Amino acid sequence: MLYSHTDVVPAEHDKWVHHPFEGHLDSVGRIYARGSQDMKCVGMQYLEAVRRLKGWGFQPKRNVYLVFAPDEEIGGHDGAEKFSLSEVFQGLNVGIVLDEGLASPDEHYRAFYGERSPWWLVIKAVGAPGHGSKLYDNSAMENLLKSIESIRRYRASQFDLIKAGLKADGDVVSINLAFLKAGTPSPTGFVMNLQPSEAEAGFDIRVPPTADAESLERRIAEEWAPSWRNMSFRLGQFKQKVSGHDASGKPLVTKTDSSNPWWALLENAVQEAGGKLGKPEIFPASTDARYFRNLGLPAIGFSPMANTPILLHDHNEYLHKDEYLKGIKIYESIIKAYASFVEHGSDGRTKDEL
Ligand SMILES: [Zn+2]
Repeated sequence: MLYSHTDVVPAEHDKWVHHPFEGHLDSVGRIYARGSQDMKCVGMQYLEAVRRLKGWGFQPKRNVYLVFAPDEEIGGHDGAEKFSLSEVFQGLNVGIVLDEGLASPDEHYRAFYGERSPWWLVIKAVGAPGHGSKLYDNSAMENLLKSIESIRRYRASQFDLIKAGLKADGDVVSINLAFLKAGTPSPTGFVMNLQPSEAEAGFDIRVPPTADAESLERRIAEEWAPSWRNMSFRLGQFKQKVSGHDASGKPLVTKTDSSNPWWALLENAVQEAGGKLGKPEIFPASTDARYFRNLGLPAIGFSPMANTPILLHDHNEYLHKDEYLKGIKIYESIIKAYASFVEHGSDGRTKDEL
């Protein structure tokens, strides 16, 4: 199943050198458009690759499905999630899913075998209110600040691993402050001589499937929002709904070793088409692929864009036409390999015969 999402994030037109929804090809061959990287390029490359294969009379041994889905950018609940749970999807009997990856600034294409799960954490502190001039312990603001300091240190320790080149973006826990909410409003702003009785902070956390999720939850409960400091926390429903782990606690990742023939087929196909594939990575954010991995299916995130700055969701998103055209060749090779693959049982019979 060659999967793609057709929705895009909004664009601030005045920050672009060309109109984001015109698909502008400039004089040096750059295709400027919202979605040129994320991920209309891929959907169109699938179509063109299939058209060319048909033109040459290629006969697939398997069905090849091209799927164009909505709503990825808003969580995919009415898109990939419902589709993955539908009878229509079940009826396809899918063996392998290809979904989006990311551009690569160097010559190696990137492939993703899992992704981090978003945890949206809100920490709330309560404490006795007091006069703005008074120094006392356990105010809501003071306790929330202690948490933020501790979270900031943890963030720095994770970031240091990336800066030192020891880990990739997708392999660490990222945590970023998304909002702060506290203070007693006044007609002109906030009351200044009052320490409020409640304070809240929200964080976007991304947890790799290889991380110890339980110990992170313990850290939140015991260190970042301890009840003995009159603090509480809640984790957004996203965390419960689709985590990086299956029901038995195993990380939801697609194998990239010899146990997964689809991985080797992809590696060979890319190489045969003249491309270079980098080391498989964990996707730093979320994609629709997680809904298919959730069902136990192998899913690989792959968008053939080498020598390209990462501009998804950015101003002036573009893809050079040469990279785009090269990507079509890459997909021709992949589709040919995938659609020709027949799984054999130990006695040589195909899986269907068995
Ligand atoms: Zn996307």
